Amino acid sequence: MGSAPDAAPTPATPTSTTSAGTAERTLDAPWSRPPDEVLAELGTDAGGLSNGDAAARLAEVGPNRLPPPQRDPLWKRILVHFDDVLIYILLVSAVLKAILGDWVDFTVILAVAVINAAIGFIQEGRAESALEGIRNMLSVNAEVRRDGAWARVDADDVVPGDVVRVRSGDRVPADVRLIQATNLRVEESALTGESVAAAKKVDAVGAVAGVGDRSSMLFSSTLVAAGQGVGVVTATGTATEIGRIQTMISEVRSLATPLTRQLDRFGKLLAVLILAMAVVMVIIGRVFHDFTVPELISASIGFAVAAVPEGLPALVTITLALGVQQMARRRAITRKLPAVETLGSVTTICSDKTGTLTKNEMTARTVRTSGRTFAVAGAGYAPVGDVTRDETDGERHADLTDDRDLAALATVMMLCNDARIVPDESDADGWRLVGEPTEGALRTLGMKAGVDPTGWRRVAVVPFESENKFMATLDADPDGGLHVHVKGAPDRVLDRCTTQVGADGGTEPLDRAFWDAQIDALGGRGLRVLAAARRTAAEGTEDLDVDDVADGLELCGLVGIVDPPRPEAIEAIAECRDAGIRVKMITGDHAGTALAIGREMGIVDPHDGTGENVAPAVLTGPELEEMSTEKLRQVVRDVDVYARTSPEHKIRIVSALQSHGEVVAMTGDGVNDAPALTQADVGVAMGIKGTEATKEAAEVVLADDNFATIERAVKEGRRIYDNIRKSVLFLLPTNGAQSLVILVAVLFGLTLPLQPVQVLWINMITAVTLSLALAYEKAEPDVMRRAPRDPKASILDGAYVRRILLVSLLIGGATILLFYVERAQGVPIAEAQTTAVTMLALGQLAYLFNCRFLDRSSLTLDVLRGNRVVWISAVTLLALQAVFVYAPFMHSWFDSAPIDVVEWGKTLGLALVVFLLVEVIKWVGRRWTARDHVPALVERHDAGQRAVQG
Ligand code: ATP
Repeated sequence: MGSAPDAAPTPATPTSTTSAGTAERTLDAPWSRPPDEVLAELGTDAGGLSNGDAAARLAEVGPNRLPPPQRDPLWKRILVHFDDVLIYILLVSAVLKAILGDWVDFTVILAVAVINAAIGFIQEGRAESALEGIRNMLSVNAEVRRDGAWARVDADDVVPGDVVRVRSGDRVPADVRLIQATNLRVEESALTGESVAAAKKVDAVGAVAGVGDRSSMLFSSTLVAAGQGVGVVTATGTATEIGRIQTMISEVRSLATPLTRQLDRFGKLLAVLILAMAVVMVIIGRVFHDFTVPELISASIGFAVAAVPEGLPALVTITLALGVQQMARRRAITRKLPAVETLGSVTTICSDKTGTLTKNEMTARTVRTSGRTFAVAGAGYAPVGDVTRDETDGERHADLTDDRDLAALATVMMLCNDARIVPDESDADGWRLVGEPTEGALRTLGMKAGVDPTGWRRVAVVPFESENKFMATLDADPDGGLHVHVKGAPDRVLDRCTTQVGADGGTEPLDRAFWDAQIDALGGRGLRVLAAARRTAAEGTEDLDVDDVADGLELCGLVGIVDPPRPEAIEAIAECRDAGIRVKMITGDHAGTALAIGREMGIVDPHDGTGENVAPAVLTGPELEEMSTEKLRQVVRDVDVYARTSPEHKIRIVSALQSHGEVVAMTGDGVNDAPALTQADVGVAMGIKGTEATKEAAEVVLADDNFATIERAVKEGRRIYDNIRKSVLFLLPTNGAQSLVILVAVLFGLTLPLQPVQVLWINMITAVTLSLALAYEKAEPDVMRRAPRDPKASILDGAYVRRILLVSLLIGGATILLFYVERAQGVPIAEAQTTAVTMLALGQLAYLFNCRFLDRSSLTLDVLRGNRVVWISAVTLLALQAVFVYAPFMHSWFDSAPIDVVEWGKTLGLALVVFLLVEVIKWVGRRWTARDHVPALVERHDAGQRAVQG
């Protein structure tokens, strides 16, 4: 253990006052004093506070939280939006206009610059508040003892004097003096810089010990790496050690993602290109045609403003943020924005079994002892239902005095257990489980069998950990005799047994082959199997360690537990299959059980592992350990079920999958899953079952722990990516058409159809109205029938780039045509320019409807339905354009003029032609490029890969 950098002891201020004016209780070096003394000084005892007392203390000291990190001041956040290529161009233009004495244009350009920055600011604000709402959904809980019972409360409500309990994976809610500790190790790097987890004990340490040496204390915000502990809160909020150094442990959230960065770079490149083209344009205009300098300045400003797709990065950010909000409504909480992009390209989902694919509603069904099988009736956790003996001559009630084997097993399951089944009126069957479902099932079994735990006292415990896969207790019976009770994964328990309980309750040698066959039989039926074992302990024993149960146990028998699959998960797996995404089950459970459930859920082909397949249908943790990395790489894609795994196997599986170019989403709940989640492309943590450590490592947290939610998140990810693509496809031709109009005019020495301020007008109204509409587009019907997107591919492929160029030509061409025909007919310039602006606006509006469906035809009534925002945008655009055309003040600002019905008719007609021609382009595209749909009948094994590669 390293010593702390700041070794100074805490100042001895019994009560101090914070700047906020709330009184804090801080104690004089609680780590150096015995727990009882600390408890007494805090006015509490090991039984915890009453709810009333806790509320009073909360009112006195204030909530247990740190002040949020300082945000930039408002003026700074506004000013940032002026730091943009477009705004620079605008400001330079404004200055040039001022030099030329054109004050109206100067004002308009400045106004537009401000409005543009304001739009950026507002959109970013919306994106941020969407994310803020999600952050609040991830509040941390703490387990405290209030009114004598353990309860989960918001960590903000913890007060000094509260007795709290932590276990592996938890985030310590406040500074805590330990009262009890079992194998407790805590990762304190945030405070001490030491990355190795520090061992924690109850024993007092010297008063001058540095933070890193205060082994009797737990510090707020550190992570419990292993074991469990109980302690009393000595300080909360800003009075904690972490509060003192004021480093908030909060994830850095940024609005930048790979895609926004890619587009940002693209935008900058484009800006340089545009400037170069503007220079060429000016030279040609000056040398070959007789444009005056003000005319050329005007034209190049117009061109530059027209061509820069300034709205693009903001559009992507807001689309992503809106998507994150939508996903949260569907119970998938995104912690990191880029994950939304990655989700859309996931090719493999590795999922836990218990609780994610199955309901985690466990009921014991069968008990197997050395002599007999017992059937257990009843459902749920209600201790109602008979335990019956399967006799060849007819069933009969089991009875603990007769059936000594059952009594032995049920007693172990009842006592080596932390779950409680409590009466609860509000619950459908009148009973409620407090604790783990597996333990609940076993507790209910004990109650059904009639075990009476009164008089027993627990002396020590080895808590359940995923690595060990068992739990052990040292219990004193009513007469004072000591017994070790062990329950856990059957293979782990069997390894520790030398004898077994016979049918009559006597001891006989262990028949390992018999038990292995029984485990396979129960597992084959999809039952979760747990074994129970026991031994007596020497008088005076007070401790229990993992080594104390290494061997010499007596096996009592097995219990088969049902955990029904989630029906919605079965459907989601089928959908994933259609979407070219493979699903793999990675579970700590027994291979037989895992395989049976895998078959039931459609993860494993019923024929897998039986035919000529080289890869086994199921691979166990021990088998995986034997394999070289290369060998694992060969089989990893074909194995669908990984059983008896430990968290460290998950990393190897993810890496092996990634070496094939797979984009992997991986679920996890335990503290040791965190590294695998970090390694995965999308780490998915369980919101209910998951530990804080896992949630922190994850990109996505499932509010309901349900596999179907992952599948929906993938679907959302694909929808969002589609919408970004649609927005880009929509936005770029807007710029293309406008710049084309100006370019053609200058290159051919013609009158400019658009003035710079008019270009600004068009850009502004489309930015305010149309460009966001596509972010609200629903998923295309075939999103989950396409192969996953190649994550390395650019957002626009060749076909889309062609489409952008063609649409630019169409809308730009229509505008040029209309303008010069009108001019030839002698229409005044202001009116012809207004018609040109209207043409651009309507052309883009029409094109918006083309873009609603990426490749699908928009020549369907569906194009009028399903997205209200499109209509709101359309009406707003038309209203604004009407103001442009008819409002007298607009005439003086933008040099616009009223146009007549015939001109409206022409622009509308041409807009319709644009719409139809774009549909032709899409149709040709559909015929030429068969987009990567998953062929329905290809062999599932290679569906995802083949389609991606093809
Ligand atoms: P998954 O990884 O799919 O969530 P799991 O819940 O089976 O599956 P673990 O929680 O790591 O994974 O459990 C591994 C094994 O340990 C289980 O199969 C079971 O045999 C045993 N086990 C689970 N919970 C307990 C418990 N509370 N006490 C003793 N043994 C347990």
